[in-house]
Amino acid sequence: MPANTKEIYGSMVFNEHVMKERLPSATYRSIKATIDDGKPLDLEVANVVASVMKDWAIEKGATHYTHWFQPLTGITSEKHDSFLSPLGDGTAIMEFKGKELIQGEPDASSFPSGGLRATAEARGYTAWDPTSFAFVKDGALCIPTAFCSYTGEALDKKTPLLRSMKAISQEAVKVLRFFGKHVEQVISTVGPEQEYFLIRKEDYARREDLVVTGRTLFGHSPAKGQELEEHYFGALRPQVAAFMAELDQELWRLGIPAKTKHNEAAPAQHELAPIFDTANKAIDYNLLTMELMRKVAERHGLVCLLHEKPFEGVNGSGKHDNWSLSAGGENLLDPGDTPMDNLQFLTFLTAVIAAVDEYQDLLRASVATPGNDHRLGGNEAPPAIISIFVGDELGAILDAIASDSTYTAKSESKIDLGVDVLPVFPKDTTDRNRTSPFAFTGNKFEFRMPGSSMNLADANTVLNTAVAKVLKDFCAEMEGQEDFTSAAAKWVRDTIRAHRRILFNGDGYTAEWEAEAERRGLFNLRNAVEALPRMLAEKNIALMQEMNVLTPVELQSRCEVELEHYSKVLNIEALTMLGIARRSLIPAALDFMGSVAKTAARKKAVSSAISIHSEEQILSSVSRDTDLMNDACNRLDDLMSHLPPKRDSLALAGYFCHQVLPAMRELRNAADHCEILVGKEYWPLPNYSEMLFYV
Ligand code: ADP
Ligand code: MG
Repeated sequence: MPANTKEIYGSMVFNEHVMKERLPSATYRSIKATIDDGKPLDLEVANVVASVMKDWAIEKGATHYTHWFQPLTGITSEKHDSFLSPLGDGTAIMEFKGKELIQGEPDASSFPSGGLRATAEARGYTAWDPTSFAFVKDGALCIPTAFCSYTGEALDKKTPLLRSMKAISQEAVKVLRFFGKHVEQVISTVGPEQEYFLIRKEDYARREDLVVTGRTLFGHSPAKGQELEEHYFGALRPQVAAFMAELDQELWRLGIPAKTKHNEAAPAQHELAPIFDTANKAIDYNLLTMELMRKVAERHGLVCLLHEKPFEGVNGSGKHDNWSLSAGGENLLDPGDTPMDNLQFLTFLTAVIAAVDEYQDLLRASVATPGNDHRLGGNEAPPAIISIFVGDELGAILDAIASDSTYTAKSESKIDLGVDVLPVFPKDTTDRNRTSPFAFTGNKFEFRMPGSSMNLADANTVLNTAVAKVLKDFCAEMEGQEDFTSAAAKWVRDTIRAHRRILFNGDGYTAEWEAEAERRGLFNLRNAVEALPRMLAEKNIALMQEMNVLTPVELQSRCEVELEHYSKVLNIEALTMLGIARRSLIPAALDFMGSVAKTAARKKAVSSAISIHSEEQILSSVSRDTDLMNDACNRLDDLMSHLPPKRDSLALAGYFCHQVLPAMRELRNAADHCEILVGKEYWPLPNYSEMLFYV
């Protein structure tokens, strides 16, 4: 670690430390109350903060400011305005008002809204989220904001996340009161592990499919894949090591606590994990991390691929969402040291189990995208069925609780809920289950379904809201109970009994599990088109409404946006495939055949006795594949010219999923087979080996 790390850490962030140092103390106290307790910020205070913030930002090289927000699709958006304010006499001053800090008005009409703004005027506004610090990036002061319509509907991913954090805080605070603890708020914490690929810029530039769609639409699997298992945690390529070192520096400057980095299972795949933070900050940081990964890679002659499945046949990329709850520094998913703490731990643990079971479909929908469809259920990533892994020991404890029997720990001590202390569970070292989509890892849960390119706000919004609802029900049941301890213990027992079908410690990749899951009545939503409509199931609409996270209209618009997005992505992929096949691959095969035919003719011209057996065989194979490619192109083209109308977004997405995707598959199979027959210098696309095993 370079000596200056301590100095650069957070140097581009207008954080609490800077605020305390630079703001008048009364202003600091007001802003602190806003940050900590959500007290509204008045304009007077905002004016002072804005002015100080501007001076600080100018010192850091900023000339512009931008409201940085998270629209429904795409990652982040920013529109830059300069601080410049001309005085009319040919000179200008640098100005930034409180109003500009707390509210902005981007032209919202081009952002997806799922019809929310179709009738009303296409205006929206951005509002500062003071719980996430402003920062300077590329000469602009970036202000993290929420994005809403003028009628108050959320048009972004941050707003519902903040609402869900509020909901879970409220309910968890109430729960803790039953346990005799008085805290101001409970915070959901998130630590995302980001996976990504790095390939050479020159290979990338020659792959139209990667450039346009983020994934390879063609490409035969390489002779060597990841079977030797030499890449995981292997030594870093010097080029990659240099990239990671610079990325760390950039992230630290922005106060992003990048912590671990290593090679992942697939060749050319890597991972970065930061130290966890409050959910909204961690997600802001993750979005910035993705942006910086792309930028820094460029400077090293590399391209960072964040797509869930850039290469077929090798592992895809996910983003494990480590999640827990924190009350004044106490991790609520950490087993306790006293019987009462155990009961508290079991209450929160049980609440998560119940929430994930009850709202498994909504959780599945929160990670449903066309990119993630290539990953989930693919025997390398979690299956599309949601289940929870708790490990053998905790599993046995929960079994004992559910069956009213005593649990004998490995240490031979008997555990009686509410009387004894739970053993400390080994922290997922040995019996860690990689096939589970939702795993308890000692003191937090790890949701492994989210894809690498996603904004984690959706998944965490659902998780927070669902758990908040169960906690709310718990509180309602405890109200007025004379003996809280036995009432809570009974609630834990009954709730585990009702939801134990979601617990599964076995191998999630097997066909037996699929059958077993069906017997248990668990959802198996195989793709985004099956999963997304679940957002509108009555119980899910009711949940979001009751917890004040999303109105039915907001939820509907989100479902609409995701379905539209699905179709748009597939549309682009199909057209890109057609273009590449017709304009590059088929001509390459024809060229190659021409050359082979010419060679054969020339050989025959020399002597009819010379064998042209190999030419004949090669020609007939390549010709067959070319016919197959051509036929597949025609079929795909035909399908693409008969798309159902856009207004029925579900039918359109279904058409892409069930008609277009299989046709794309067929085209790819023909082309990939052709690739291994056609001379290397004829084939226009760099192959998988070249891309994945560069030096
Ligand atoms: P791995 O899963 O690779 O073994 P760790 O378990 O050390 O790695 O942590 C993975 C991620 O989980 C890190 O980003 C870490 O900060 C985060 N994490 C650890 N504790 C919590 C917590 N209480 N809440 C949320 N995230 C956490
Ligand atoms: Mg992990």
